[in-house]
Amino acid sequence: MDTSIDHIGPQKAGNSFRDRHSNVNEKGKRNWVYALKPKGKLYRYRNYLSFVYLGLFFALPFIKIGGMPAIQLNFTEAKFILFGKIFWPDDFFIFAIAMIALIVFIALFTIIYGRVFCGWVCPQTVFMEFVFRKIEWWIEGTPAQQKKLNESQWNTDKIIKKGLKHFVFLFISLLIAHTFLSYILGVKEVRHLIQSPISENAGLFVGLLFFTGLFYFVFAFVRDIVCTTVCPYGRLQGVLFDKDTMQVSYDYNRGEPRGKLKKNVSQPVLGDCVDCKLCVNVCPTGIDIRNGVQMECVGCTACIDACNGVMEKLSRPLGLIRMASENQISKKLPFRFNGKMKFYSALLVILTGVMAFLIISRKSIDVSISRVKGQLYQEVGKDSLSNLFQAKIINKTHDDVQYELKVEGAIPGTVKMIDLHHHTLKAESLNNATFFIVVPVSGIKKRSSKIDIGVYANGTKTQTVTSTFLGPFM
Ligand code: SF4
Ligand code: SF4
Repeated sequence: MDTSIDHIGPQKAGNSFRDRHSNVNEKGKRNWVYALKPKGKLYRYRNYLSFVYLGLFFALPFIKIGGMPAIQLNFTEAKFILFGKIFWPDDFFIFAIAMIALIVFIALFTIIYGRVFCGWVCPQTVFMEFVFRKIEWWIEGTPAQQKKLNESQWNTDKIIKKGLKHFVFLFISLLIAHTFLSYILGVKEVRHLIQSPISENAGLFVGLLFFTGLFYFVFAFVRDIVCTTVCPYGRLQGVLFDKDTMQVSYDYNRGEPRGKLKKNVSQPVLGDCVDCKLCVNVCPTGIDIRNGVQMECVGCTACIDACNGVMEKLSRPLGLIRMASENQISKKLPFRFNGKMKFYSALLVILTGVMAFLIISRKSIDVSISRVKGQLYQEVGKDSLSNLFQAKIINKTHDDVQYELKVEGAIPGTVKMIDLHHHTLKAESLNNATFFIVVPVSGIKKRSSKIDIGVYANGTKTQTVTSTFLGPFM
């Protein structure tokens, strides 16, 4: 199977295509990737970004805004808190639009910048490259030392190193699983779970063990296969990329014919690639970017750093491997913002605008009122009529709220709550209220009239709900 997207690179380079994944050898066995630690400007930036990223990931469940968690995604109770605001199931249209906007953003980002998201921001890469691989380098040494250790017989040194590494991996996986649980249940609940006997929370305990095991298995063994084989976003790139997509590319026009520099030996005129293979050795998915754009490339830019380091030492221009589109490399064209990019950008602006409007106009007290079905009007005394109504009132705030309903508009009338009704909406609660609206007969001019009901929260009007009042046939 041809796994390459762009055929220009390998053809120019005179190489044949691979007929298998980079992480499988000709015998069908796993090619374990022993990646060198990258050095360079881009790796430094990724390192800084990973500190911010990991800091935020572990700190966010503890951060509160207005007494509420900054983020809590409680799927079990269908309660979602984002930046201190509670979103209820009836706000799901905002989530739906947010999800569509996110998908469009990812598509747009991929069309323009390829898989840079994977290499710089994806949690799999950040944890793999900036947590687990760093621990591996720290305990087992350089890639060459790791390989030697893996191939050596079991001895005390190997047992200690492997034991320590897997213990730390397991501990971090446990930490990640607990942090994810805090995003769902909240820190307070997770702390309570930790302190309670396992028998009281057996289901959650099994879930925690399962996710700890999953994270450990992914970061200790599956690793690059997640990006090259499992992740659906990675598989999507083939349909999203075009010849104007910026991606990590090898400039074969400049680099070929490649060849090692030999002192005091007359050589044919060579390109700038000295075939040092540093770009291959730093690659976390084990590919050779000089063979053209490949689906295993996660856009981590480690090979750019590696090659720039070599070019610097040789006093040659940097950027033999760089972010560039196929058209930029092959035709030496400038970057082009093509029709596809314009379309997705316009769609993204519209969706973001709609989402912003929905969030801004979202009500903290949401009320829906309807006449009780099957009920006709009742006569009240000699000069008034009443209809029975029911209201569903959601208090989306985290404070108790005093509320009141008043008849407003052209038809005069009063609201009479059914017995035992209280006017307090508990914080984050859904309330049902049943009430009569009593209207003077003189105010009703037809069988069915529109009636406006003002909703007041803590004395301030929040909205007007229009319903129907049923009178006698006229
Ligand atoms: S080819 Fe370069 S950018 Fe792509 S995954 Fe390998 S090192 Fe990262
Ligand atoms: S790092 Fe640069 S010079 Fe070395 S093999 Fe890769 S492309 Fe060629």
